[in-house]
Amino acid sequence: MQKPYVNADGYYAYCPHCENPVKLLGLLKPLKRHGPHGRHAKYDVSGINSFNKIKYENCPYHRKHANYITEPHLGEETDEDLRIYNMVREHFDHIIYLLKQSLPIVITSSMAERLLQNYITHRGWMFRDADLNNIPWVFINAMHGIDLFGALIKKIQNLRDF
Ligand SMILES: [Zn+2]
Repeated sequence: MQKPYVNADGYYAYCPHCENPVKLLGLLKPLKRHGPHGRHAKYDVSGINSFNKIKYENCPYHRKHANYITEPHLGEETDEDLRIYNMVREHFDHIIYLLKQSLPIVITSSMAERLLQNYITHRGWMFRDADLNNIPWVFINAMHGIDLFGALIKKIQNLRDF
């Protein structure tokens, strides 16, 4: 490895999710309790990236529980929020298509409309855990309960597999 991934302080990489600097541990000397792994550096690493606290706090790789937080963050809309918002605006049909492919229920136009209304009402693009990689999942997660009474279920071998 070369600069900027190596410096006097150790070995570094990017977190694939939040793009913060990650320190690589256990590469040369084996660790007592863990195998080699990376840990968010929580400081700027020259040549890698500056530490971004908000992205770090939202990164699923540093949290023990990966449940999505379906509440908007406090503060103004960020550029990232606007990118998500515009992505949803431009690709709403793709989001519904992807959810249709992934879920065992048939998503009708009226259900898609309710999902969208709910996403707008709850400002899903500002959810703490929303990012450009998880838009469809945050989109459907914004709906705390979908009334499935009368909903069509796809013909599948074993519903429990879902
Ligand atoms: Zn991260």
